[in-house]
Amino acid sequence: MSAPGSPPAYARVLLDLPVGEVFDYRLGPNQVPLAVPGAWVVVPWGNAQRVGLVASVGPSTELAEERVREVTEVLADAPVLPADWFAFLGFVAGYYHRTLGEVALPALPKRLRTPPAARARGSVFARLRRRPLAGDADARPAGAVDADAHTTRPAGSPLPTLNPDQQAALAGLREATGFRVSLLHGVTGSGKTEVYLHWLAEVLAGRPDAQALLLVPEIGLTPQLTGLLRARFAGVPLAVLHSELPDAERAAHWLAAVEGRARLVVGTRLAVLTPLPGLAAIVVDEEHDASFKQQEGVRYSARDMAVALAARRGIPVVLGSATPSLESWRAAQTGRYRLLSLPDRVHAGAWPRLRRIDPRRQAMVHGLAPDTRQAISDALARGEQALVFMNRRGFAPVLHCEACGWLSACEHCAAFRVLHRDGGGAGSPARYRLQCHHCGGQSRVPRACPGCGNVDLGPLGRGTQRLEDGLRELYPQARIARLDRDVARHRGAAGEVIAAAHRGEIDILVGTQMLAKGHDFQRLTCVVVVDADSGLFSADFRAPERLFALLMQVAGRAGRAGAASEVLIQTRFGQHPLFDALARHDFAAFADAQLAERHQAGLPPFMHQALMRVEARQLDAALAFLGQARELAGTPPEGLTLFDPVPMPMARLAGRERAQLLLEAPARAPLHAFLRDWLPAVAGLKGAVRWQIEIDPLEI
Ligand code: ADP
Ligand code: ZN
Ligand code: ZN
Repeated sequence: MSAPGSPPAYARVLLDLPVGEVFDYRLGPNQVPLAVPGAWVVVPWGNAQRVGLVASVGPSTELAEERVREVTEVLADAPVLPADWFAFLGFVAGYYHRTLGEVALPALPKRLRTPPAARARGSVFARLRRRPLAGDADARPAGAVDADAHTTRPAGSPLPTLNPDQQAALAGLREATGFRVSLLHGVTGSGKTEVYLHWLAEVLAGRPDAQALLLVPEIGLTPQLTGLLRARFAGVPLAVLHSELPDAERAAHWLAAVEGRARLVVGTRLAVLTPLPGLAAIVVDEEHDASFKQQEGVRYSARDMAVALAARRGIPVVLGSATPSLESWRAAQTGRYRLLSLPDRVHAGAWPRLRRIDPRRQAMVHGLAPDTRQAISDALARGEQALVFMNRRGFAPVLHCEACGWLSACEHCAAFRVLHRDGGGAGSPARYRLQCHHCGGQSRVPRACPGCGNVDLGPLGRGTQRLEDGLRELYPQARIARLDRDVARHRGAAGEVIAAAHRGEIDILVGTQMLAKGHDFQRLTCVVVVDADSGLFSADFRAPERLFALLMQVAGRAGRAGAASEVLIQTRFGQHPLFDALARHDFAAFADAQLAERHQAGLPPFMHQALMRVEARQLDAALAFLGQARELAGTPPEGLTLFDPVPMPMARLAGRERAQLLLEAPARAPLHAFLRDWLPAVAGLKGAVRWQIEIDPLEI
């Protein structure tokens, strides 16, 4: 369709598809000047339109001319994405063995990669640039942050003067010019956040176009943090990127970041895939947190990719944690990362006392031992707060018939449906339902046992809802609030609970690990962990690492204002060395013991792993597919191990049977070299299955 006289031109377009690297489309003469590499286009795909990115442009195509379709539209006012961003995403795609399109397109805000519903499109980008960034209460327009940001700075809140340990850590960070990974290790309350904020302020002051990226776990992006950043970085335009923002808002923040208007970019894992032209420094806060790992699509680790990005850009990156991942800890031990430590809490002497309470042979009431109940009463009597932690939401984990042993199994999964209660507050009658936490499937509570007709069905065990009921009964005078994902589902509800706790309007907080992170409650002096045992003896070799991190974090909630405080852990295995290390808040002792075990057992970080997962209607089909894949491998190269195909730990999910095959090697390079040859061959296998590969899986 090219105009007479002008040579034909073809755009190679990236699309979010698991096949093919690029797709050729013909450009009209008017489109040619706009369709530079990095430009956004709308193209036909089947009967639909899709947004894609121009990878390159050329005068010819290898496809038959009549099969080449035309670019529908070049999105002229979209920011052209820079070549070094594509190069980085190319690295990400290569590392995770995906196509560039599969990595690049999902990295764009949904609003911007949704094909236009006709005419309106042309101005979407322009509209978003003018849009106020209504992320939270004190939001302001993206382009106008400079102008009025000073108004949000609380009068008379000077930067705290760093203590000597913090100054030493900051000096360590300052030394890094160019690429360097620093691991900032210090217990909760040791002042890590202050150190990075000082450092980032210096980095941003150093160059007028410098940008800094602060990555935080999903849960960490509380109004508290954005409020602190706005106060601290008065006059510095801030972009906030996380998946819970409304689409248009996220797109507006993203544009401000991409165009360099935002200087400080704070976000969850997806933010690491944002093009940041002036990027000068990266901080990954709570670097051990599992939420940095994407769990669907391209399963990338934002922490690992932040390190890779810093290496490519030649800039420093800081990983901060009270309980670093054993991968990072090991890297610090071998000198690949530089270890910076904050050994003490800022407010000295405030680490809580740890008490282990054996629940056996005790008069348990509502799951709480006598000493536990007494400790809560004592805290309340002193006018202090208590936090009761349990990592299981819902009313009870399973509904049960005592007559025949029936249990409320999920019909689609190898799991039980959890008993939940809705309502039950003032004026609304309680209603119960069963819900599967894996597939989301719901059912009514049966009137009688489906197995034997017995009408006397009862809950087995307890979740946070039932625990809350118990606490209300035990402490009728106390103001009690619960926080877990069921509460947080209602927009703003989680923030309200936290804010009320800060205002001192709550005496007992009960909930899941949502409570463990990042909240600084001044009057909290009593923390109870109702059941710590499920994490101690799990088939997953990372379970103790996760349990230790969680308990450190939970313990770190107590006594932040300096009052004497205690953490009570109900456990049948009080002798476990994990608790000794915890009592001394000695992460190094715990980590070194774990690393010794991992070394002995040949587990990560001494081994590198990839996991192939297959889903099929029948387990046999899934296993057979993996068997064929394994055969394709022939005799794997020296050092590389392909294990036998096995059913996944949760073998059935949402009606699909699942199996997996683990690959491992002591070094990354041979593993990846093998995958590059093997995966295309696997893709050629026939079978009614879905499969995917995961690199560096966190759960096996
Ligand atoms: P972390 O990130 O290690 O949990 P923070 O940086 O949040 O620790 O510090 C914990 C608390 O101590 C915060 O309330 C913070 O404002 C305060 N703080 C940190 N450093 C100092 C300091 N040098 N002087 C006074 N207060 C400080
Ligand atoms: Zn029964
Ligand atoms: Zn289910």
